[in-house]
Amino acid sequence: MALPTALVLAPLPPAIQPLLEQRFHCLHAPSPAALETALTASPYPIRALVGHGSTQVPASLLDQLPHLEIITLCGVGYDGVDLPACRARGIRLTNTPDVLTDDVADIATALVLLTSRRLIEANRFLHQNAWPQGPFPLASALRGKTAGILGLGRIGKAIATRLTALGMTIAYHSRHPQPVPHTYPPSLIDLATASDFLILACPGGPATHHLVDATILSALGPTGTLINIARGSVVDEAALIHALESNLIHNVGLDVFEHEPHLPPALINHPRAVLLPHVGSATTETRTAMGQLCLDNLDAHFAQKPLLTPVI
Ligand code: NAP
Repeated sequence: MALPTALVLAPLPPAIQPLLEQRFHCLHAPSPAALETALTASPYPIRALVGHGSTQVPASLLDQLPHLEIITLCGVGYDGVDLPACRARGIRLTNTPDVLTDDVADIATALVLLTSRRLIEANRFLHQNAWPQGPFPLASALRGKTAGILGLGRIGKAIATRLTALGMTIAYHSRHPQPVPHTYPPSLIDLATASDFLILACPGGPATHHLVDATILSALGPTGTLINIARGSVVDEAALIHALESNLIHNVGLDVFEHEPHLPPALINHPRAVLLPHVGSATTETRTAMGQLCLDNLDAHFAQKPLLTPVI
């Protein structure tokens, strides 16, 4: 029997991609030009689409995939997918929640430590052999400080557990309060005002676009730190750069950016910006588990069984 055809906009992790190739005739389209070629060249109906958390699947792409049955994303975010267009066409969508939660929460915690204890600067200090000229300046302690988490979901809760263990007080805001022993300021601006660290762990997409703007950054204040492991789109990056340059906030730790992989030079060169290249889930163990979950969802779909992690 002929293998079904899958359009692969982003390959699965190295340990899993060969298993995908055994099950599907894979059309690889890592760039817009390759996508155009794949769409025009394929003699077979494309029945599955494989991508990652930042993959863009607008209605205009779905229009060119009349036989598409399922999209599987190797990531938890799906803000690049046009959900109403998928629903209207009866296309299923799966993602990879839970398996990446601990790794992403670790990275958020690392960013809190790196910014508060000035560890990147301390490392640079020794690489520049500056110690003989005098001691490294003091940093600030975490114990007793307030971490305000926007989005207390799977990852937000795992961050709260870690930061509680470091002696921090947790506050959070999202659309709905939850039965948890943390303070719930009624708005994001109230959360920012109450926070020493404002930590973003909500989804991306239109509903959260630029939620963190100049007003929120001013509320966070000149001793405040912004940590973003959510999506770059949640932060108005121009307002963030202005806030850093004007000392309206103290510093920033970012794993995600508005226009990845391109960062504004003002951010790249800022001494109080700790920057990571979207590595929240980037461990071999977690990426392999994420890829396996994508594969299991595809297997379930083509065996007409319930999906393991359906979004729609
Ligand atoms: P989750 O369990 O669905 O949690 C999301 C939380 O955000 C929920 O508590 C939700 O609460 C809140 N939320 C949703 N919409 C909101 C809005 N408009 N305003 C305020 N809060 C809102 O998701 P998760 O697994 O924790 O993942 C969270 C996000 O992390 C993902 O969507 C993804 O963008 C990001 N992520 C990043 C990386 C990385 O590598 N940096 C890796 C994985 C995930 P309410 O429904 O009550 O609002």
